[in-house]
Amino acid sequence: MSLQNYRAKRHSKETPEPFSNTKKTKSQGMRFCVHKHAATHLHYDLRLEYHGVLLSWAVPKGPSMNPVDKRLAIQVEDHPYDYQYFEGVIPKGNYGAGRVEIWDQGFYTLPETNDKHEIEKLMTRHLEKGHISFILHGERLEGEFILQKMKKDPDDKHWLLIKKNDLKLIPPQKDSDTINGRFSHTEKVYWPDEHYTKGDLLSYYEHIAPYLLPYLKGRPIMLHRFPEGIQGEEFYQKNFDSATLKGIKTFPVQHEGRVVNYLLIDSVKTLLYAINLGSIDLHPFLSRCQHLHQPDFCVIDLDPHDIDFKYVIQAAQLLHEQLQSLNIAHYCKTSGDKGLHICIPLHAKYDFDQSVLFAEILALNINRQMPKQTSLERNPEKRKKKIYLDCWQNRFGQTLVAPYVVRPRPLATVSTPLNWDEVKEDLDVTQYNVKTIVHRVEQTGDLFKPVLGKGIDLKAALKKLSEY
Ligand code: MN
Repeated sequence: MSLQNYRAKRHSKETPEPFSNTKKTKSQGMRFCVHKHAATHLHYDLRLEYHGVLLSWAVPKGPSMNPVDKRLAIQVEDHPYDYQYFEGVIPKGNYGAGRVEIWDQGFYTLPETNDKHEIEKLMTRHLEKGHISFILHGERLEGEFILQKMKKDPDDKHWLLIKKNDLKLIPPQKDSDTINGRFSHTEKVYWPDEHYTKGDLLSYYEHIAPYLLPYLKGRPIMLHRFPEGIQGEEFYQKNFDSATLKGIKTFPVQHEGRVVNYLLIDSVKTLLYAINLGSIDLHPFLSRCQHLHQPDFCVIDLDPHDIDFKYVIQAAQLLHEQLQSLNIAHYCKTSGDKGLHICIPLHAKYDFDQSVLFAEILALNINRQMPKQTSLERNPEKRKKKIYLDCWQNRFGQTLVAPYVVRPRPLATVSTPLNWDEVKEDLDVTQYNVKTIVHRVEQTGDLFKPVLGKGIDLKAALKKLSEY
């Protein structure tokens, strides 16, 4: 490999950047680094060791741990091996003038092998093909990434850098090891029948985070904690003593007569912090902090008590037909337990009272058609062996389990968005669990996305319903 292009662009007497490869014999593994480079345009430079130099790509937006992001990566000239340790300011007037900082560093391997010589051989082939699958073992970047050339043209320098969603089943050993180093009691068995551990749960949440976080961000959250697993003691936690927690954000909500400081989960780090506390399911508000009194959606919670699941399906289908005929957008997910949640986007345009009213009208219509199997009764004694149509879920301060959240039930079932053609009598909600959901969501995409999108015209909907 040649540093001819690198040297042609720089004057050794005018820039502090390294020109040599002296340190290359020191490491056994294959090194990588990412520089943060505040040149004319801030960008990140990904560098992978290869035959004594560093293959380099300028990534304008920087690498992302989110598998849905495809980041442009422009291949630039090979850099000297020693460049990975360089930090400093390239003076004005020189190529790439600006501050250079090490943003991440460590080793990389290939999915095929950890052996340095094998890696270099395979890398030659992958570079020719324009497709490199590699695993980063850094401080910030961890896991499998793909560099994919955009065009076949050998002179074209445009690639895409994508994080691979590499965990389809739990537990893959590498991920468990990563998790074990960062969290506590990861070997604790949470689901004794399935032998799923706390480490497995952390691993699931880390991998589903790109899909789950949009439903948690900016919302006060109630935790459901099971420090000893699903058969042990459980409790709900709403209040966090914000003063004692560094780097953890809370949000004060005025409830009748008291203020509750709710946890906010805005990042993978906070998500895993909450799970590490022993949380299994997470229950966010239906509204965001900036519109605390205007929900983003209305929910019809079909909550069965000792009644055949076919009636839940029947009620969901009745609601579906009704809303479809009125042209009102609506989306269904499993509760992760025995019920179904049907959500109607409101996009913070109306208040909770309006949402409750809307839910009551819809629920009464179902109840009129299924009086023996459904009930709006709040008193559990009066709604035995029925599906409770819980409209009060739409009041201020109520929470609803978020999509992609695990439930403390057998098989570690997950609250899962469905296509309407899946809402039929043979629906088996237990097939949606921690072992299947990451793979499923990669196929289906996030079916619940529109719930946080454009809201319906509630006034028009109420008018149409009054004529129904
Ligand atoms: Mn650069």
